Amino acid sequence: MCVFEVVRKDVGGRVGRFEVNGKVVRTPALLPVINPNRLIVSPQELERDFGAKVLITNAYIIWRNKALRERVESEGVHNFLNFGGVIFTDSGAYQAMRGKELEVDNREIVLFQEKIKSDVGIFLDVPTGDMGYIEAKRTVFDTVERAKECKSLTGDSKIFWACPVQGGAYPDLVSYCAEKVGGLGFDVYCVGSLVTRLEAYEFRVVCEQLLSAKFSLPFNRPLHGFGIGLPSFFSLTAAIGCDFFDSAAYALYAQKGRYMSVHGTYDLAELDEFPCSCPLCVGSTPEEVRRFDRDECERFLARHNLYVSFEELKLVRQAIRGGWLWELVQERARSHPRLLEAFNVFRLYPELERFDPVTKKSAFFYSGPESFLRTEVSSFRRRFYGNYRPEKGRVLVVLPYSESKPFSRFYNVWNTKDIHFAVMTPFVCVPLELENVYPVSQNVFVRNDVLIYKEMEVQFGEFLNRFGNYYDEITVLYDVSSVRAFAKSLSLEDKGKKEGSSAWDYLLDLKGLLDFQFGYPAGDIFGEGVFVRLSKRTGKIREIYDEGNLLGVLRMDGLFIPSIYCAELLKNALNYPIRRVVVDDEEVISFIKAGRSVFAKFVEDCDPEIRPKEEVFVVDKSDCLIGVGTSLLSADELVSFDRGIGVKTRSTIKRKENNL
Ligand SMILES: [Zn+2]
Repeated sequence: MCVFEVVRKDVGGRVGRFEVNGKVVRTPALLPVINPNRLIVSPQELERDFGAKVLITNAYIIWRNKALRERVESEGVHNFLNFGGVIFTDSGAYQAMRGKELEVDNREIVLFQEKIKSDVGIFLDVPTGDMGYIEAKRTVFDTVERAKECKSLTGDSKIFWACPVQGGAYPDLVSYCAEKVGGLGFDVYCVGSLVTRLEAYEFRVVCEQLLSAKFSLPFNRPLHGFGIGLPSFFSLTAAIGCDFFDSAAYALYAQKGRYMSVHGTYDLAELDEFPCSCPLCVGSTPEEVRRFDRDECERFLARHNLYVSFEELKLVRQAIRGGWLWELVQERARSHPRLLEAFNVFRLYPELERFDPVTKKSAFFYSGPESFLRTEVSSFRRRFYGNYRPEKGRVLVVLPYSESKPFSRFYNVWNTKDIHFAVMTPFVCVPLELENVYPVSQNVFVRNDVLIYKEMEVQFGEFLNRFGNYYDEITVLYDVSSVRAFAKSLSLEDKGKKEGSSAWDYLLDLKGLLDFQFGYPAGDIFGEGVFVRLSKRTGKIREIYDEGNLLGVLRMDGLFIPSIYCAELLKNALNYPIRRVVVDDEEVISFIKAGRSVFAKFVEDCDPEIRPKEEVFVVDKSDCLIGVGTSLLSADELVSFDRGIGVKTRSTIKRKENNL
């Protein structure tokens, strides 16, 4: 069985841990393609100089040569390649796609991979390539049949098996294929037939193929994109959810005298200087390398190309950990218009938002109009329009956007019983009580940009459309001085919020926040007895109490963190399965009650709307509360993963003394 767990997440990307035969690979990972007949860069070098923990080689090329076949059968592929890491083996489908007649069938090559003790084998699928729809359909049916054959041959296999998904440029066929093979229980899934489109720089189509596959495959298995070897494309495909990339590109480009960089590839003949600081490039000049003999020159370029590729993968993993993968994707997309164009695929797959954490440590950096396609934007809008309800009968006062935040402090205004403030922002027109919620105040936009103003207008229109009839009157203020004059006319400055007060203004604000975060009518749990403690440093609400009981705290990212006492109230106010994570096993429940985290494999069921970094209620089968904590995974992942932590428990019913 596959051993794969997710450690960190950002967008649809994940930093994971893939374990096979005691060897661990950190994902997303690059699998350099090794041609056993032509080792431009040897597996030992890959391990020693590049820190490669995994590679892919071709079982068909080994099998085809009788002497080689016998040798590898007797000594095993690891000894043959002299590589201690994880070895994936492919089966010749690529050669078939390139028009070669294969001398082997699926059964034989599957058994051969078992014999040579590959770590992850790939059966002989039928590539779609560039076929027309009818033939493409045929390849999908045949691939599914061969997947079943592989499963029947490898029942007690010691090695892992990867299953390619075919269908080419037809998303419906890709989804169909993924659905059919997804249920067969393979350890890794790969998306095939990307190569011709990659060579043509059809990145949008490639992304569509990957996404159609991803959403029809099990979420708990690593996804491998065949042939993705262009470093500038790594971040985008990782953001979609690719965990493995295999690259022959480093070698193929080197053969053609091409020098890779994350900004594009260059012809060695054109370079005056090497724009790179890898150990090779710092030690020589393009002129010197051009004087090398052909093989040496190719080897130099292949090694440099690998340095660039491995470096980019490290950056991608770091971006996922830091929550700034989108920024890296946007930066890289600037290196080619076809990459930028690929962004449009996110219009077709808004569900990618399901995998993105609801809050992040790093600020939202605007870097062009496609920033509005980002998952953080769609996530905030979905939640806002779906969950939020303004209090009826107030006057709405709409304030202009300001770079200075919090808006309330900049304008010196706050909501009252009669007046509700909202601020024009490019995310939505934001009610003042949500001003601290990520990413409303954790962002940097370009100033005085007409596109951004347009987006604010569109969002304001949407706000009026949804909520206009909740208000008795609506006033729009367009500049700072009119806001200041307005605030003065109400003498709001005399009504400063006082700590400990049970004033209605906190009540309505907190109701708004809870409805937004947990869904209407969560906010109704707050009654007249609510009072707050303010942070001495920021003046913001810190703790919220209800007649002596701590209800929860407000975090810096504006989200409400409920105490176990409050979790019970919220759970009772919200219908099953809202925010529930269900566990069943008695022993597991007692571990959780003792304060342990909830492992994903024990999750029986959960609210399908849960996103990573969300506050959730851990309950048993009868919906009795066990604990409260933060989900580290999305709903789809919580129910499917059999490894790793699903919910980080913060407080449980047995540990009430801590209360939070
Ligand atoms: Zn270099």
